[in-house]
Amino acid sequence: MTEQSKKEPGRSRESGFRLVTLFGIEIRLDFSVTFIFALIVYSLGSGLFPDWHPDWSPLTSWSTALLAGLLFFASLLAHELSHSLVARRYGIQVPRITLFLFGGMAEIESEAETPSAEFSIAIAGPIMSLALSFIFSLLAASLVGGAQLESLLEDPDAGAAALTPLASACVWLSSVNLMLAIFNMIPGFPLDGGRVFRALVWRFTGDRLRATRYAAETGKWFGWLLMAFGLWNLLVLKSSGGLWLILIGWFLSHLAVASYSQTLTTGLLQPLKVSDLMRTHFERVAAATSLEDFAENWLLRSNQVLWPVYDQTGKTLGVISLADVIALDRAARSRLGVVDVMTPLEQLRALRSDDAAVDASVLLAEAGDQPLAVLQGEDVVGLIRGSDVLRWIMLHDESRSRH
Ligand SMILES: [Zn+2]
Repeated sequence: MTEQSKKEPGRSRESGFRLVTLFGIEIRLDFSVTFIFALIVYSLGSGLFPDWHPDWSPLTSWSTALLAGLLFFASLLAHELSHSLVARRYGIQVPRITLFLFGGMAEIESEAETPSAEFSIAIAGPIMSLALSFIFSLLAASLVGGAQLESLLEDPDAGAAALTPLASACVWLSSVNLMLAIFNMIPGFPLDGGRVFRALVWRFTGDRLRATRYAAETGKWFGWLLMAFGLWNLLVLKSSGGLWLILIGWFLSHLAVASYSQTLTTGLLQPLKVSDLMRTHFERVAAATSLEDFAENWLLRSNQVLWPVYDQTGKTLGVISLADVIALDRAARSRLGVVDVMTPLEQLRALRSDDAAVDASVLLAEAGDQPLAVLQGEDVVGLIRGSDVLRWIMLHDESRSRH
C-alpha cells in the first residue's frame, strides 16, 4: 500500500516510534503493530504449527511462530521499500514508512507525474511480495530435500509433520506473501492494484482525475463485495473468518471514498489561489471605536467574527475578533478601545491573496473553522475559513458533475 501525502506538519502519522533508517528513509512502527504481531504469533504458535506438528514442544512452536512473525513484518517492510525506492527513482521524496495495523504505508510526498511512473511505483510492491513468496518456497524446497518433497505431495499431512521448524516458517511465509501480492492487486484505489488500474486508465484517457474516479469506484465495489462475502461466510458457513473479511471490506470501501475525495479536492483546488476562495464582503471597524460600542453595535449585529481595524487615513492597523472581546470582562470593555485589543498586522497569522489554495487549505484545517485574514501588501482584502473551501467545491463541482 502507498499513500500520497501533502506536507502536513504535526499530523497523527507521526504516531508510534522510530525503528531504524534504511536508504535514508525513516522506518516507524505504529503501536497497532504490536496488536497484529501478537495476533499472528498467537495464531501460529497455538494453532497452525501445533496442527502441523503435534510432536513439537510448545517452545519449538512458539519460537518458530515468533520467527515467522518477525519475517512477516520484514516482508511487509520490503514491499513498502520497493514502492519507495522506485518512487525515488522518479524524483519523488519518501521521508518515512510506517508499519501499522493493516500493513505498511509509504509516505510518498507527491503524486506521480506520468502514468508510467505511477504504474511502476504501484506495481513494485506486489512484485516484491511475489518474489518473496517465490524465494521462501525455494528455501522451503531446499530445506526439505527431494525425497521428502515427494512424500509431501503424496500425503500432505504426514509430509507437513516432517518439516523442520525453519521449513515450516518458510512454507507459511511463502503463502502469506503470495496472499499479500494478490490482495494488494485488487483493482480498487487506493490499493496497489487500484493504482495500477488508475495508471492504465490515465494512460488511455489522459485524464488523471477521471481515472481516479473509476479506480475509487471499483475499490468501493470490491470493498462491498468483500463485506458481502464475509457476511456469507459468517452466516451461511458459520465461519468466524468472515468477520475479518467484513472488516477489511469496510476499510477498503471507506478508504476508496476518502482518498478519492482527497484527490478530488487537491485536483480542484490545484489551479486556485486564496483570492478565489476568500470572502470579500465584510465590514471594518474604525480604530477610535470603543470596545463597548464595537460589542453592542457591531459584533452583536453581524455574524462576522473577524474585523479589520483601520485608522483615519483608511490604513489597516490590525484585526479584532469576537474571541478577543469575549475574553475581557465588562469593566475592561468600558475602559478600552478597539485599538488596544486588536492584533497588530505585523503579529497576524494571515494568508496572502496570491497563496496557492492547496497550501492554504492545510493552514485553514489547522485553524479549525476560525477565520483568517487575507493580506495583500499592507491591507486586509478578504477573510477566509476552512468551510469556504468546501463551499467553493459545492458551488463549482455540483454543476460540473450533474450535466
Ligand atoms: Zn503496496
